[in-house]
Amino acid sequence: AHLDRIAAVDTDVHAFLHVDREGALADAAESDARRARGEARGVLDGVPIAVKDVLATRGLPTTCGSKILEGWVPPYDATVVTRLREAGLPILGKTNMDEFAMGSSTEHSAYGPTHNPWDLDRIPGGSGGGSAAAVAAFEAPLAIGTDTGGSIRQPGAVTGTVGVKPTYGGVSRYGLVALANSLDQAGPVTRTVLDAAMLHDVIGGHDPRDSTSIQQEWPSFTEAATVGATGDMTGVKVGVITELAGDGWQPGVMARFQDSIDLLVQAGAEVVEVSCPSFVHALAAYYLILPAEASSNLAKFDAMRYGLRVTPEGSPSAEDVMRATRDAGFGDEVKRRIILGTYALSSGYYEAYYGQAQKIRTLISRDFDAAFGRVDVLVSPTAPTTAFKLGEKLDDPIAMYLNDLATIPANLAGVPGISVPNGLADEDGLPSGLQVLAPALADDRVYRVGAALE
Ligand code: GLN
Repeated sequence: AHLDRIAAVDTDVHAFLHVDREGALADAAESDARRARGEARGVLDGVPIAVKDVLATRGLPTTCGSKILEGWVPPYDATVVTRLREAGLPILGKTNMDEFAMGSSTEHSAYGPTHNPWDLDRIPGGSGGGSAAAVAAFEAPLAIGTDTGGSIRQPGAVTGTVGVKPTYGGVSRYGLVALANSLDQAGPVTRTVLDAAMLHDVIGGHDPRDSTSIQQEWPSFTEAATVGATGDMTGVKVGVITELAGDGWQPGVMARFQDSIDLLVQAGAEVVEVSCPSFVHALAAYYLILPAEASSNLAKFDAMRYGLRVTPEGSPSAEDVMRATRDAGFGDEVKRRIILGTYALSSGYYEAYYGQAQKIRTLISRDFDAAFGRVDVLVSPTAPTTAFKLGEKLDDPIAMYLNDLATIPANLAGVPGISVPNGLADEDGLPSGLQVLAPALADDRVYRVGAALE
């Protein structure tokens, strides 16, 4: 049914870069047989899923939305993908994304943008707009995204879907093509909080192949979402972040946010305002740390090891081949960030830029620590506006970066966050999102509160 739906709508939505019809059908048939024998591998056995094209999939193309990886077929699976396969989820295909996950609109994909199923003239968010649009358009019941600065949560907000960024180290990064190693996390993209929790239970947990993977037993997130769904918030302390509201926040988004705060109070939660003063510097710090890490990660695309190779006329040197390949293979946003990152890391400027940004990162973690000393969870709108028009912010990188204002602090501090659909804004009738943040390791809280808000 989902493959049929993809065939019917994906010409318009363009959520997928690659659909694996045969593979998905074969896996679904095996799952049917298993379940007929009473040997289902768990609740999600046989439920199809779409995977963001930044995760390595054995035998399936993995492009990261870039021309430089066109034609690359990984010889191995990311751990997240291995876990999906082991749990019996057929993989429908790979979803569109901003090139190397840099962007907030999916317009930086080298393969053309994804369109928001709510209004095809609008962006589906980014960088994981393909995963969110696939779920919103009923092309897939579940998807995997990755969130380095908001790429699961912001697309969730603007497409009316649920997106979760787990605690840093909670889900393995093995086989996830790194954008910024210290910020990247893979997580669920779904239509309900319970679906996200069930998927998180499948993909999460320790992986010896990822040196930053946390070694501990995690509670059942399915259980936490089930408890939350009763709607009782008695005894839960909720902090509203002062700095994530005000000028530049769309009135309709703020109005729906206020409705949900009222709902939490009615459900028995204690709601207080909490100031996180360093959050106003989060965006500036992020756009130094991320390009710094990204510029170093992307150095491996050297025309020798993977994907594209452009050989200029004559007798070119290895350096000529490398230069021509990168020139043709990387898009504008990727080049912009490589230049920014290389500059920020260069000797003489390192302390002034990268060093300062790391200090701000520490201050942001301290803001979270202080806040979580007073409240169980923090909330804010996920994104300042609803989905904007395709092309509207493409020539204005700063305007594009501002979309991530509310989502970036969680990545800098490594804490978990969920975006839940939060109703339609009055002025345009488009979806808005509410974000719930919890202390590191307390992902169960985002499921509990998220499910209560559904
Ligand atoms: N929009 C942010 C950026 O462009 C977030 C990216 C992400 O989370 N992958 O960096």
